Amino acid sequence: MNSLEDIWNVLMQSLSEKLTPTALSTWFSDCRPVELEEYRLVIRTSTQFKKKIISERFASIIKDSLSELFSSDFEILILVGEEDYLKEEVGDDGPLPEMAGYTFDNFIVGNSNKFAHAAAKAVAENPGKNYNPLFIFGNSGLGKTHLLMAIGHDIHESYPKKNISYIKGDDFTNEMVKAIREGKTLEFRAKYRNVDLFLVDDIQFIAGKQSTQEEFFHTFNSIYEAGNQIVITSDRPPKEMSLLDDRLRTRFEGGLMADIAPPDLETRMAIARNKATRLGLLLPDEIIEYIASKITANVRQLEGVIKRLTAYREILNDEITRASVDRAIDDVTRNGTDIPNPDNIIRETAKYYSLTPEDLKGNNRSRDTAMARHIAIYLMRQLTNLSLNDIGKELGRNHTTALNSIRRIEDMMRNDSEMTVIIRDITSNITTSSGTA
Ligand code: ADP
Ligand code: MG
Repeated sequence: MNSLEDIWNVLMQSLSEKLTPTALSTWFSDCRPVELEEYRLVIRTSTQFKKKIISERFASIIKDSLSELFSSDFEILILVGEEDYLKEEVGDDGPLPEMAGYTFDNFIVGNSNKFAHAAAKAVAENPGKNYNPLFIFGNSGLGKTHLLMAIGHDIHESYPKKNISYIKGDDFTNEMVKAIREGKTLEFRAKYRNVDLFLVDDIQFIAGKQSTQEEFFHTFNSIYEAGNQIVITSDRPPKEMSLLDDRLRTRFEGGLMADIAPPDLETRMAIARNKATRLGLLLPDEIIEYIASKITANVRQLEGVIKRLTAYREILNDEITRASVDRAIDDVTRNGTDIPNPDNIIRETAKYYSLTPEDLKGNNRSRDTAMARHIAIYLMRQLTNLSLNDIGKELGRNHTTALNSIRRIEDMMRNDSEMTVIIRDITSNITTSSGTA
């Protein structure tokens, strides 16, 4: 037994002896293993809600099974959707596992990102000194998370005892809401206010949420005043985050801001070549150049094409030809230009209000829930070509309700500029989250 899949299958087998088939399929059917680290199993599921249930109800059963299988104890880390995480390293000087991912070593530097890269390097060498906070911004798929994680990696190597915290803007919100609900705000504060390195990914998700911004402001200050380093990424600069609290904007702009632009052709070729080599794929220069000339705005897509070519070769035993390259490009870019799907719209709208998609589909009538429901309906009308009937169905409503929601939002947008801003922010979140391959 060695591959992650094998381990996962054995684990599922063992769970099937402890859980009912319904529980197993409800909570684990879309769960995938991501990595088995020395002391931790990383898995991925689709929604915050499933994560919550798995961690509350099933984590201890999973741990028991793992300890039966391996005779040692494991933690469980549950990721949601595309969420990233900071890998635990195996031993201090052991080689990093292949594709360990987000390090400076495998970040290709070109004109478009050299400033952000140099700033990140400087911060990793001298945390808490000159560039605090470091605020990295740019469109989706251009390497912000990569640089953020690389800083974490390097600082962890140089100072293994430093307490490093990586969190996404929306998870900060969710955790805070949960802490308030469970009366654990003191623990929540202690957890974040005392870190040595605070890595906050996609901060744009906290804009507009008053209580979260307030808490974040205090967290920020206490880390900053202790002389510890803060690194933040965002899909836009602070001045374009219209619902950002002014105090936070001032703080963010008070450090170093570095933007990342889409890479030029030469850099795209270097990235494609580097990814291919690391995947053991030898591509002729003309193919590299062809790919780099077709995929211009997003490194994640560039990487997606190379991964697909590797898969074609392995699965289909295919020679890499122009035709297979075109197919890979099609596959990857189709995702990017696709009309957003309703799930994505519902998820991003719920997230904006710190709710789950299930909340929007349910019957709760609290103000936020009702508002989020209206907005999700409005956005489905704007962004998809679903009929009113189908839009209603997505949220367990009929077409009259859907129509009322749309009118309501349209009215609000006419009379209230804040609604316009909210709609624009959520739309941008939807398009960045679905624009990734
Ligand atoms: P963002 O956070 O800006 O959306 P990511 O950091 O997740 O983007 O980058 C998307 C993918 O592209 C990642 O797999 C990352 O490793 C890769 N990538 C981005 N920029 C570079 C680069 N300059 N060199 C190598 N890989 C890169
Ligand atoms: Mg990112």
